[in-house]
Amino acid sequence: MVTLTIDQLRAQIRGDVIAPEDERYEEARKVRNGMIDKRPEVIVRPVNAGDVIAAVNFAREGGLDVAVRGGGHSVPGFGTCDKGIVIDLSRMKGVRVNPEKRTARAEGGATWGDFNAATNAFGLATTGGIISTTGVGGLTLGGGIGYLARGYGLSCDNLVSADVVTADGKFLVASEKENEELFWALRGGGGNFGVVTSFEFKLHPVKDIYGGPMFYELKHARDVLSFFREYIADAPEQMGAFPAFQIAPPLPFIPEKRHGDTFVLVVACWSGPLDQGERALKPFHDVAPVFAEHVGAMPYPALNSAFDGLYPSGLQHYWKANFVKELSDKAIGAHIEHGTKVPAMTSTIHIYPINGACHRVASDQTAFAYRDANFATVIAGMWPDPAQNPANIRWVRDYYDATAPYSEPGGYINFMAEDDQGRIKSNYKGNYPRLVDAKRKYDPDNLFHVNQNIKP
Ligand SMILES: Cc1cc2nc3c(=O)[nH]c(=O)nc-3n(C[C@H](O)[C@H](O)[C@H](O)COP(=O)(O)OP(=O)(O)OC[C@H]3O[C@@H](n4cnc5c(N)ncnc54)[C@H](O)[C@@H]3O)c2cc1C
Repeated sequence: MVTLTIDQLRAQIRGDVIAPEDERYEEARKVRNGMIDKRPEVIVRPVNAGDVIAAVNFAREGGLDVAVRGGGHSVPGFGTCDKGIVIDLSRMKGVRVNPEKRTARAEGGATWGDFNAATNAFGLATTGGIISTTGVGGLTLGGGIGYLARGYGLSCDNLVSADVVTADGKFLVASEKENEELFWALRGGGGNFGVVTSFEFKLHPVKDIYGGPMFYELKHARDVLSFFREYIADAPEQMGAFPAFQIAPPLPFIPEKRHGDTFVLVVACWSGPLDQGERALKPFHDVAPVFAEHVGAMPYPALNSAFDGLYPSGLQHYWKANFVKELSDKAIGAHIEHGTKVPAMTSTIHIYPINGACHRVASDQTAFAYRDANFATVIAGMWPDPAQNPANIRWVRDYYDATAPYSEPGGYINFMAEDDQGRIKSNYKGNYPRLVDAKRKYDPDNLFHVNQNIKP
């Protein structure tokens, strides 16, 4: 076997090939999590599937570690690696909508902002993340939780097909009809099975929504969380909402003297008829006085990008996650104890409901196994100053330890830290052996191991 040099690789690639001496290298090696400081040997920015094939072959033949980067949001920094090759899909962001079939095809490096901007023009959307800068790629491959999940399922439930470059450099189309086992594994199994160069999704008629954040004083936290637990169990499925603890940012609708104070909040997204929006959000106004809010009718992409400013690239990240079947009174007590101590304006804890349409998919129908969980919680530590790492990591760990006894053994892989690799098996429950089989078939030598890894 002949191993190519980087110059020979360059000759095969239409996109960019960035080596350490390139002036773009320092910027190109960064991922969103500012804690991650890795130096790949080469960064390839493909512009088409052919480039991806060349990059995968180069990695395999050269025995290099390979990190695949979609939106670069992975908290453990799986979008980069030391010494190996990074396949950074950020030049592949095209989104093509088929309004007649109500589908959209997004290239592997598109973000939810790219996706929603393209589909909103047709009055259509699918389940994506709650902020716009997250990658369609990583989010969908791990499952995909967002405002529309109760109504339309997880992002991966809306996947119709995927174009995939596998470890042997082959290009496969995966769908219910072709390469079905690969298609099954891609829907929750993360980046383990190949580089997805494009994702085809089902779309739904969602254009404008009614919603936004509602802030409550902390003394109402128990009422708000207990109410949310009961309400969301059988709320209309057009209601996507989650409770959170949050330090008030300096936003115009929050009185200035309360900036920096901690609140419990609910962020709601009503995707049903707009004229029912105010009535749909009434229960959140009845449970306790809303101290400050920014709710109303807006295009879906406006809510999807409303919090982007809070989470700039380069923050330090450390997260932990759990699936939860019952949000017991004791669990709520643990949330109140630790949520009220959220240490940074950019840190938060979200309790996402994953019932409704997510429950209508059987546990073994896709790799995403926790179809019996009602909530996915994320303790999202994000802060600007590396000097504050120990205190912030401590907060996340203490919070996690306090809520773990009331949670399932598994947590959503996309919310997990690198030190959670020991929990991967629990995350997939009974689906794990089948994922291992799929890994043996499509990536027997574990070329794609810079991820929440399923070992062949
Ligand atoms: C600020 C923030 C907000 C978030 N909000 C949500 C949310 O609302 N809902 C939710 O479900 N998750 C959310 N997440 C978690 C998110 O789903 C994961 O971080 C996810 O891995 C990000 O995908 P990415 O493509 O941006 O990341 P990357 O770091 O680029 O990739 C993450 C993983 O996916 C793989 N991957 C990415 N693209 C491809 C591809 N095209 N082909 C093959 N493998 C690929 C990578 O190899 C890596 O293993 C959020 C994360 C952050 C930091």
